[in-house]
Amino acid sequence: MSITVVGTVAFDAIETPFGKVDRCIGGSATYFSVAASFFSSVNLVSVIGDDFTEADAAVFKGRNINLDGLQRIKGEKSFFWSGEYGFDLNIAKTRDTQLNVLAQFQPKLSETQRTADVLFLANAQPELQMDVLAQCKRPRVVALDTMNYWIKTAKASLADAFSKVDLIVINEAEVRQFTQEPNLVKGARQILALGASTLVIKRGEYGVLMITRDAAFAAPAYPLENVFDPTGAGDTFAGGFLGYLASRRETHDRELRRAIIFGSVLASFTVEKFSLDRLREITLGDVLERYQDFRALTHFDDHEM
Ligand code: AMP
Repeated sequence: MSITVVGTVAFDAIETPFGKVDRCIGGSATYFSVAASFFSSVNLVSVIGDDFTEADAAVFKGRNINLDGLQRIKGEKSFFWSGEYGFDLNIAKTRDTQLNVLAQFQPKLSETQRTADVLFLANAQPELQMDVLAQCKRPRVVALDTMNYWIKTAKASLADAFSKVDLIVINEAEVRQFTQEPNLVKGARQILALGASTLVIKRGEYGVLMITRDAAFAAPAYPLENVFDPTGAGDTFAGGFLGYLASRRETHDRELRRAIIFGSVLASFTVEKFSLDRLREITLGDVLERYQDFRALTHFDDHEM
C-alpha cells in the first residue's frame, strides 16, 4: 500500500526553553514521510532549493520513500520557517516564514503519485491542495491538514476543501477559530457536516480526539517527561496515523483507533530531540515496543473494540 504526501521540505530555526538551533531540517512532508515510511511506501512531492544538499537529503535514505517528486529549483533557496516556544510547548510562535521555492510550487503528479491508496495534503494554500486532489485517481483515503493563516485568509476555499476530503487533521484552536464555536464537540460536528467522515483533533500534550459521525475516541499523548522540541509533532502524528492506515486493508473503527496510537507513539519520539534527530535513530522495533508500553500505561485494549 502506498501514500502520496504533498507538503514542505524545509530548513527551520527553533528556540525552545531547552535549547536553540539556527538551521535544521524540517518541513511538514519531511516529518510525515519519515514517520509514514515505518509502515508503508511513501511518494514525497515537494520542492527544495540548491541549498538542500545530499547530506541533508540523507534523512530520506534507506527508507521506503520515493523521491521522484522532490523537485529542485536551481538558484533558489528552500522554504524556511523560524519559531519559538515558551514553557507552554503547545503554543508555537512564528518568528519568520520565507517561502522561497514554495512561492512557485505547482506540483504535477506522476502516474505513481496520482494512484496511491492514501493522499495526505499537508498544510498549504487550500486551492493548491484541491488542485493536487483533482489530479488524483480517487484514493481510498484523502486527508488534509491546515493552519490558522488559511482559516483567516481563505476560509471559503478551506470549507470547500473540507467538503472534498475524508479525514481532516486539525488542532483544537483551529476548530474553534474556523467554527467560532467554543464547544469542541459542536465545532467538530459543524466541520463534519461539510462532508468529511472523520475529524482528528490534535491537542498537543493532552493527546488526540477523533470524532466520526457516530463515535468519539480520545487518546492521551504518550506520557513523556522530557519533551525537548514539539516542532513536527503534528506532521509526525499524521505520518504514523496514515502510514499505519495505508498498511491495513480496511479503515474501520478499530484500525482508526490503532492508527491514532501509532501516530501518537511516532510523535512522542519526534519531540524528544530537535528536528528529526530522534526519529532518524529509531527502528520499527522501538516503535512497536513503545506501542505496547502505551497500551499498558493507558489500559488501551486494541482487541476488544
Ligand atoms: P508541525 O507538525 O505543525 O509542528 O509542523 C512543523 C513543520 O511545518 C516545520 O518543520 C516547518 O518547516 C513547517 N511549516 C511551518 N510553517 C509552514 C507553512 N506556512 N506552510 C508549510 N509548512 C510550514
